[in-house]
Amino acid sequence: MVLILLGPPGVGKGTQGAFLCEEKGWTRLATGDLLRAARRDETELGKKAQEFMDAGDLVPDEIIVGMVRERLRSMPADAGVVFDGFPRTLPQARALDGVLEETGRSLDAVLLFEAPDEVLVKRISGRRHAPKSGRVYNVHFDPPAQEGVCDESGEALVHRSDDRPETVRRRLEVYRSSTAPLIDYYEAASTELVRIDGDRDMAAVRDSMLAAVETLESRG
Ligand code: AMP
Repeated sequence: MVLILLGPPGVGKGTQGAFLCEEKGWTRLATGDLLRAARRDETELGKKAQEFMDAGDLVPDEIIVGMVRERLRSMPADAGVVFDGFPRTLPQARALDGVLEETGRSLDAVLLFEAPDEVLVKRISGRRHAPKSGRVYNVHFDPPAQEGVCDESGEALVHRSDDRPETVRRRLEVYRSSTAPLIDYYEAASTELVRIDGDRDMAAVRDSMLAAVETLESRG
């Protein structure tokens, strides 16, 4: 399966994508995580991405597409892939079509997660990340057993600098203007697009997502 998780920041793509990949043994390809790792490692790419990310803006398409292409080429062609946070613009979506074809893959479906802006802002403001284990917590809805510490790895949790309220509003605007048009793009291409109500508790969203994926798989 090759799936795209589409939806605004804070809607639960990361949490649900990690769950889906664990359940199915698929690989999650999250461009935001790759960029944050590049920043931590202080690579050239990480340095280039930094200022865009801190402003809540998109990192230029060619950087993102190059990163995704490299990843896909290094993975076995039959590995399940779940894209999270990519594509985010029309040029990225078109480039992805090309890269999938080049690497002998095809897109099975887009899962579109939706929730109102006020819910997204509240969720993002409470979000805390464990950089090494990749786990995401929420101080309001899904806190760790010990405040500020990851249950799995024991590492200190961090509040992403782009999760500040001013930046969150900018990221939502960018989603509406640059990323939401992908819904029409995939509908026009007759790609299977499954809408998932992300304004529910995590378990309910997860169940809908799994049911949708089972349906897609049963169709072969
Ligand atoms: P995320 O973790 O997906 O919310 O991404 C965090 C930030 O990384 C975004 O606000 C962008 O600055 C950058 N980013 C992640 N994925 C992309 C992408 N596909 N295109 C452009 N910028 C991206």
